[in-house]
Amino acid sequence: MNLKRISHIMTSKNAIQNQYVIYWMQQSQRVHYNHALERAIQIANQQNLPLLVFFGLTANYPDANQRHYVFMLEGLKEVKHILKTFHINFVVKYGSPEKALIPFLEDAHTLVMDQGYLKHQRTWRSFVLSYVKDHALNINIDVVDTDLIVPVEVASNKAEYGAYTIRPKIKKLYASFRDFSRISTLKNQTDLQIPSDDDLSDINQTIRNLHLEHTLAPSVVFHGGYTQASQLFFDFLNKKINRYPESNDPSLDLTSKLSLYLHFGQISSLEILDRLFMALNSGQIEGEGFDAFVEQLLIRRELAFNYVYYQKGYDQFETMTEHWAYETMRIHDLDERPYLYSKEVIENQKTHDPYFNAAMKQMVITGYMHNYMRMYWAKKIMEWTPSFKEAYETILYLNNHYFIDGRDPNSYTGVAWCFGKHDRAWTERKVFGKLRYMNAQGLERKFDIKAYVHQMDTL
Ligand SMILES: Cc1cc2nc3c(=O)[nH]c(=O)nc-3n(C[C@H](O)[C@H](O)[C@H](O)COP(=O)(O)OP(=O)(O)OC[C@H]3O[C@@H](n4cnc5c(N)ncnc54)[C@H](O)[C@@H]3O)c2cc1C
Repeated sequence: MNLKRISHIMTSKNAIQNQYVIYWMQQSQRVHYNHALERAIQIANQQNLPLLVFFGLTANYPDANQRHYVFMLEGLKEVKHILKTFHINFVVKYGSPEKALIPFLEDAHTLVMDQGYLKHQRTWRSFVLSYVKDHALNINIDVVDTDLIVPVEVASNKAEYGAYTIRPKIKKLYASFRDFSRISTLKNQTDLQIPSDDDLSDINQTIRNLHLEHTLAPSVVFHGGYTQASQLFFDFLNKKINRYPESNDPSLDLTSKLSLYLHFGQISSLEILDRLFMALNSGQIEGEGFDAFVEQLLIRRELAFNYVYYQKGYDQFETMTEHWAYETMRIHDLDERPYLYSKEVIENQKTHDPYFNAAMKQMVITGYMHNYMRMYWAKKIMEWTPSFKEAYETILYLNNHYFIDGRDPNSYTGVAWCFGKHDRAWTERKVFGKLRYMNAQGLERKFDIKAYVHQMDTL
């Protein structure tokens, strides 16, 4: 493991032998290619201690609903089974994760946390650190980045302007972060007999326990977990990647759908990259598709993490984009809009635009939308809403409510991109000013967009 993944945020000279090493699983909900889990096993082996993997299950995860929980629980159920085969203890406790974890710290030699970059994730980790300091607990704490190929602070020490500025930095570094071989065997396999609040055997019951059953229904198309992610990946590798350069066409269905799994850490981007290299080197896939896909998985995705880490107000209209973009929005905020639609009309797919309605339907029913349609969808909401601020808030709300991969660094970055972030100024026009504009004629000219509408009709 590249040691730059690890931050030793607390080193206690007096850390006593104690009962176990604990890994607080939060961002990276998987066993395979999990550097944080591997780090915890290594320490447990050095100390000859058993390992406890802890998961805090809160009903109040920011902006999460039944759709997100079911997908997550499907993944966690698998995690539990796999950990069992490795003789690693797993405990689920109800409550806000950072607080539910506290009672387990007293008996821990070391706490390993996986890195999470969104505000609430960072606040939770800071809370735990403050608690440990305030109560003078004798414990070591490591934070391990395992969701990125190049950890954010290693890739860059500042907010990057765009893909063109972060690309050379990541390209220079990423080979040294292809650093995972296999999970080590845990030596001390003692069963700690710690009771869980939930054994995850009945997901519907868990949803009832958390009182989530009346929120948004689960996706009818996508199910969570590493096995599902692997199947989608192999399907993508076998049938789609060589045509990935054409994947902008929403009707062709040439994308991977891995964002859903990456969001919950159910599969690692490094594992995907390693497997892509194997396929490339064995001649199974072609270089053009490989390059185009790696640009998204490695450069665009890691740019999004750079954004949420360094741009403090990444989730607020007033602080999410560039000065030039605010200036052009100020000038054009009062321009007359060709159509004005309420959030309800938009959500219920009742606009005059069949392409927009089809995209919205894909989002509501499946919890996913094709990347090109995400851009179009957001641009249309900007065009049909009385002010840019209101448009931003509507887009972010719908994005995080319906998408299984919502509430992700990519969510905030994708939405901010529509408002000029990581983009450039275009020719001035009504309503949009210098922000990039998209229209239905563009879709018709470039793609078989009617075929996409037809596919969504069958949902
Ligand atoms: C308005 C808007 C909102 C968006 N909201 C989200 C969101 O909530 N969650 C989310 O994960 N992505 C979001 N994106 C980014 C992108 O649309 C999705 O990541 C992509 O469509 C996921 O589908 P896929 O896995 O099939 O992509 P593929 O084309 O198969 O790409 C593979 C992986 O590369 C990464 N990737 C692909 N496109 C982008 C991109 N434009 N920016 C950053 N990374 C990318 C993702 O991790 C993706 O899983 C948004 C984009 C826009 C314009």
